[in-house]
Amino acid sequence: MINMIAAGEVVERPASVVKELLENSIDAGASKIVVQVEDGGRRLISVSDNGCGIDADDLAIAFAPHATSKISTDADLATISTMGFRGEALASIASVSEVSLTSRTADSIEANRMTVDCGQRQPPAPCSADKGTTIEVRNIFYKLPARRKFLRTANTEMSHITEYFTRIALAHCDLDMTLIHNDRQLYRLVGNQSVTERIAQLFSKDIAEGLLRTHGDEKGVSITALLGHPSRARGNNKYQYIFLNRRHIRDKFIGHAMKEAYRGLIEPNKYPIVFLFIELPVEAYDVNVHPTKIEVRFENPNLIHSQVLAVLREKLLATDLDVTAQLPASNVSLLDRFPPSAADTARQERISEAMADFFSTHKQSSTDQQKFRFSAPSQTAHRQEPVNYPAAGYAADAHAGASPKSFLQIHSSYIVTQTGDGFMIIDQHALHERILYEQLCRKLAAGQLTSQRLLIPETFELTDAQLDAIKSNAELIEKIGIELEPFGPKTMAIQSFPAILDKVSPLEFMQDLLDMLTDKTLGLDAERLLHEILDMAACKAAIKAGQPLTDQEMQQLLADKDTVERASRCPHGRPTAIKFSISDLEKQFKRT
Ligand code: ADP
Ligand code: MG
Repeated sequence: MINMIAAGEVVERPASVVKELLENSIDAGASKIVVQVEDGGRRLISVSDNGCGIDADDLAIAFAPHATSKISTDADLATISTMGFRGEALASIASVSEVSLTSRTADSIEANRMTVDCGQRQPPAPCSADKGTTIEVRNIFYKLPARRKFLRTANTEMSHITEYFTRIALAHCDLDMTLIHNDRQLYRLVGNQSVTERIAQLFSKDIAEGLLRTHGDEKGVSITALLGHPSRARGNNKYQYIFLNRRHIRDKFIGHAMKEAYRGLIEPNKYPIVFLFIELPVEAYDVNVHPTKIEVRFENPNLIHSQVLAVLREKLLATDLDVTAQLPASNVSLLDRFPPSAADTARQERISEAMADFFSTHKQSSTDQQKFRFSAPSQTAHRQEPVNYPAAGYAADAHAGASPKSFLQIHSSYIVTQTGDGFMIIDQHALHERILYEQLCRKLAAGQLTSQRLLIPETFELTDAQLDAIKSNAELIEKIGIELEPFGPKTMAIQSFPAILDKVSPLEFMQDLLDMLTDKTLGLDAERLLHEILDMAACKAAIKAGQPLTDQEMQQLLADKDTVERASRCPHGRPTAIKFSISDLEKQFKRT
């Protein structure tokens, strides 16, 4: 009975049995493991391996509580490197199901089989079998109707099993692993695959191919990471895997570091795809803090956090993360079978409209007419005629030897510019916002923002709560370059304001800042709060959509784009630019 109850800690559901048995096979040095499941694990969970096997004597005690072959001395406890070590799994599993264990060691001529039915052990008996171990677990919880009732549908239990199988498969790419459900082979992973090959099979080719690989090894922390493109970020953290010394773990600190690394590249409520493999000396953490060892205690969690953040961020900053436009497939029959989504079509239409619009606007405006000089007077006379203009205009320009302008603004909101292998459409607001945000961050890192004295101080009234917020955030307010002075009861005056925000109304900014500072629901730490404020400042100060820009302004924007970090995303994670390649266009126009 005690065992049955204790079993609950380890044996939560069929998936936990799969996990324990897989870990035992790995500890036994297996190179090939087959997992066979029936009815989501309710009827059968069988794990076969070609590991070292268990000899007849050990078999008799393998099911005894706290029987483990993995600890001989106290010192072993501190440096455990095997998967399991508490000697509880087999005893627990066998106390809540019918178990049959067949095993043969390499130097034994025969195998032995032992059965246990809900804790009732039968003595081992010889039989014939290959080298290795097969454990079959049938009818889990059949004597515990309350527990059995809580099992979910076969599909749900199977998805949990698949998840555990996936975690182990990712951490042990050297192993040949198979997962079979109701005689159907779900996964067959050959041994010695690369992680990306595994990811392709376990998730999708698409996800695997888009991953950025990076590695860092500093201060005793070795990190290998496969990073999803920001545009692939998900609504939950299901595609985030953390492995510590080849064991899957969950960790809030590391989760936070991953999110931080993608800050500004993805929308705040999204989760990047990350496969993270950390190697640490076993003395640097403790696994004995959680019954299933999924959480660990790091000796120096801050070091782990900063190393993960540094390695990931460095890679993301060094990578061109521009979004490339997906033009609809050029093959008509393919198009018929897979019509572009409504969003694709709408985007294409918006772009075509914008382009058409640009050309008609430019035909009518006299200044632009100069930039796109038309040599033939007859063509100028027929300005309203939409045919042939662009080609004629560009051709004439080329003849005249004028350097062609490589950018133009459309709809007073987007800038179209030529790139090495195509062209790019830039969202002027998003890009400027990102540029300002980076400038603000850089200035702040160097000290505080330069502030400018207002000619006439601007006064505002405030509540007690707002006054408290100002007092408790005095340092932060000073850092961003705002100088406040009391100006009578419940009134304050803004004396100075950050120079970089010269286009922003100080009063309006102050109001929003106070809202942010007094909003307890945000629950932000100081660093996060500062970034939120910078986000807000950048958004307010940035060029708006619908604002016509001069050539100089556009030139400046494009030049700044090349100098700021993470220019391909606005601070909120939306893309700032979408790229189109000439080769895609050529396919579209059936030139290839
Ligand atoms: P632990 O893994 O914590 O030692 P378990 O209850 O999981 O405890 O297993 C008990 C013992 O049975 C192990 O220490 C190991 O000696 C043996 N054992 C279990 N599974 C296997 C296997 N697949 N191959 C070889 N030995 C195994
Ligand atoms: Mg074990």
